[in-house]
Amino acid sequence: MKYQTIDPTNNKLIKTYQNHDDAFVESSLAAAHALYKSEWSKGPIQPRVKVLEKLADLIDARKEELAQIVVQEMGKLIGDARDEVWIIAEIARYYARNAEKFLAPVKHESSLGEAWTEHHPIGVILAVEPWNFPYYQLMRVLAPNLAAGNPVLAKHAISVPHCATIFEQLVNEAGAPKGAWTNLFVDAEQVANIIADDRVQGAAFTGSERAGAAIAAQAGKYLKKTTLEMGGNDVFVVLDDADLEKAVEIGVFSRLHISGQECISAKRFVLHEKIADQFIEKFTAAMADVKIGDPLDESTKLGPLSSAQARDNLAQQVKRAVDNGAQITLGGNVVEGPGNYFEPTILRNISRENPAYWEEFFGPVAQIYVVKDDDAAVELANDSRFGLAGVVFSSNIERAKSLASRIETGAIWINTFASTAPELPFGGVKRSGYGRELSELGIKEFVNQKLVLVKRD
Ligand code: NAP
Repeated sequence: MKYQTIDPTNNKLIKTYQNHDDAFVESSLAAAHALYKSEWSKGPIQPRVKVLEKLADLIDARKEELAQIVVQEMGKLIGDARDEVWIIAEIARYYARNAEKFLAPVKHESSLGEAWTEHHPIGVILAVEPWNFPYYQLMRVLAPNLAAGNPVLAKHAISVPHCATIFEQLVNEAGAPKGAWTNLFVDAEQVANIIADDRVQGAAFTGSERAGAAIAAQAGKYLKKTTLEMGGNDVFVVLDDADLEKAVEIGVFSRLHISGQECISAKRFVLHEKIADQFIEKFTAAMADVKIGDPLDESTKLGPLSSAQARDNLAQQVKRAVDNGAQITLGGNVVEGPGNYFEPTILRNISRENPAYWEEFFGPVAQIYVVKDDDAAVELANDSRFGLAGVVFSSNIERAKSLASRIETGAIWINTFASTAPELPFGGVKRSGYGRELSELGIKEFVNQKLVLVKRD
């Protein structure tokens, strides 16, 4: 496998990148560790947050170019790519402006004396990241760790080397010293060796359960801290008092956003029986009406999947669901012709014995379930190995809040789609992972929360 840019609209190879050898990895580790030992990491925060402010401005200035690169490498719609570029600048600014406050000492009332917690960097962190938000995923790790003083080695997904390269260039151009952020084109064995290295103190991972388990196992063996952000099988609960027009509009958007390849998105539609038929009719019509095509065309609503492999895996998953009793009520097929397009698809009659009941579909495939009341909605939502996020639609906010509290996920949105903001913590429970990124919680994951106590006389 090679780091390559392949256009997902036609599978043409654009560029191949050289892998980094072990000598390059060693020199990168040495530079990162030397930076951690220096005044840059241990000293005042101002020089570090100045880099983040500059980085945000550089990103804003090159917004269109950066967005086009994403579209070419992984096929998201141009509007969504622009949104991604916008939010990474916001995340950089958010930590530039708030990190000092987040990392300030916290006092503790104690009978033993004057006590407080300080926040210190812990050393080199490894980031292993996926392709679906190829800048945003990197910024979620860079911004808090740069502010905190942790140098980062970053292994990006094999399909987005251009995004990985340009992100590193921007960080350097913003004034980050050597070692603060190093892009590595490496394989799984090299990743394991980096985790094992004594100079590395933690790993931040986002991606599949399979890779997350491999990273966590290696980190566990060498007693390193990890954060894991993995997939989900999020519910989109529509109660009998919901605004159905809005629920359909947002449900379609959420299921098809990034061609269905978003971790937090509507995957299982859980419908109250009183409105189920109405919702299904409107939802099916809206899904069928979606314009599929070129992600650079502003009127396109559904672009290609990220790779031929992703398309073929999804087709197999849909077939397996049907072989196990599911019924396709819309779509179900790869779109004929060049590129990795897949039809908007709706599956019904999925039993607990069907593997589809337990799996994440990373593509434009919606599952429909009908329930008799709120308790049944909660029971179905929680009957999942995942616990990332979810949505509840109801005109009765107290009723929706009660469901939100009972659903076992890292987040729930009420009457809107699951989304993200720099100030909102992001992460899951169960097999969706542990730890949080973004917000004040995110910056506390890889810092030494050190207690100091002065004895009372
Ligand atoms: P993936 O295969 O796990 O890839 C993610 C990253 O892990 C890539 O950089 C990949 O490198 C690397 N990797 C894979 N196997 C590895 C191993 N054995 N050792 C070390 N590194 C390894 O994930 P994906 O299928 O591309 O991404 C989609 C998944 O990510 C979905 O499940 C989605 O829900 C999840 N996701 C979660 C979040 C969240 O915040 N919770 C956000 C976005 C995506 P290569 O590319 O070189 O294989």
